[in-house]
Amino acid sequence: MTQIRDSIELDFCDVLFRPKRTTLNSRREADVIRKFKFKYYPQTLMSCGIMAANMATTGTFEINDVLQKYQAITCLHKHYDFQNKENYRYITQNYDKPESAHNSYTFISTGLRDDKEKLFALLADKNFKIDKLCIDIANGYIPKLTDFVKEVREKFPDILIMVGNVVTGDMTQDLILSGADIVKVGIGPGSVCTTRKLTGVGRPQLSAILECSDAAHGVDGLICSDGGCTCAGDVAKAFGAGADFVMLGGMFAGTDEAAGDLIERVVETNEVIKEGGKTRFVQKTERYKQFYGMSSQLAQEKHFGGMACYRASEGKVVEVSYKGSIENVIQEILGGIRSTMTYIGARELKNISKCTTFYRVNRQLNEVFGKS
Ligand code: 5GP
Repeated sequence: MTQIRDSIELDFCDVLFRPKRTTLNSRREADVIRKFKFKYYPQTLMSCGIMAANMATTGTFEINDVLQKYQAITCLHKHYDFQNKENYRYITQNYDKPESAHNSYTFISTGLRDDKEKLFALLADKNFKIDKLCIDIANGYIPKLTDFVKEVREKFPDILIMVGNVVTGDMTQDLILSGADIVKVGIGPGSVCTTRKLTGVGRPQLSAILECSDAAHGVDGLICSDGGCTCAGDVAKAFGAGADFVMLGGMFAGTDEAAGDLIERVVETNEVIKEGGKTRFVQKTERYKQFYGMSSQLAQEKHFGGMACYRASEGKVVEVSYKGSIENVIQEILGGIRSTMTYIGARELKNISKCTTFYRVNRQLNEVFGKS
């Protein structure tokens, strides 16, 4: 018989942090760098826990170059061919840059349809200095994924493995016990994702984080909340709900360092000016960058030479307003998180969830009059 779970499921927009008495006097006292320890990966990692998504637009070398300075992570997209000498050299040279801390902040990515032999050869290559792997498929519940995680862990006991995506505690624990250090959580929340529309499957992200983090921490694993953050407050809420890492796509899209051409369009504003006795609307140039889902029709065409007939697009293509350098975005996010920490009395990133009480609300943002 069909079952219905009628407990309330929450998204980021359904909650706000309750401020608490604090011993912090300034956001400068809030430490956003956390020392991460992992279940299998033998090393520690000092990081702010923010990750750029392994999407073709955001998992780029250029984003990696900037984010590593902030001790933030980039999951390179899986379409970089490391048999190409320049790409290979990027990784080996990046290893020697002081700010990169020896590629500490760089993951490579794979799906299940990709060339396994090539991947294993790269991970075994002592000159290719990456020891962090993101195994990413849309439906983390298929048995082939668990088998693959076991196989990779057996072959490479000392690498850092992140795998996903799931939204329930049972599967989170399965993947960790199969060899994952981090489980990626999120089905359907992504800004260019249409899974919920196409399949009717998904779970509100805050509830998914609450359940999966509890399950993961119980077996010494960690989770990464993936998708659905639209502003710095959402990133803080993901940490507040128990996420160890937070992955962002749309928030990093539209930046100089994101892949894709800048699109310029001249548009008429509502403002009117008089010129030579005639009135006309003032024009302005709007700038955008294209951002697309990795299972959108466009991505399938660009990277796989077309959509296989048994698949349907579960992603869309959008134009994101141009944001300038990604430095502006990461600084705003880290500033926002520091401020949240000050409001709730969390001196360290790891303590955000311990200090979190959420109010359930029915409106996240104030109404605005006019455009800002
Ligand atoms: P965002 O931060 O933009 O809200 O979400 C980014 C996440 O959306 C990615 O890390 C990935 O998990 C997910 N995503 C990216 N492309 C697609 C797609 O085409 N379809 C679906 N269902 N999810 C996608």
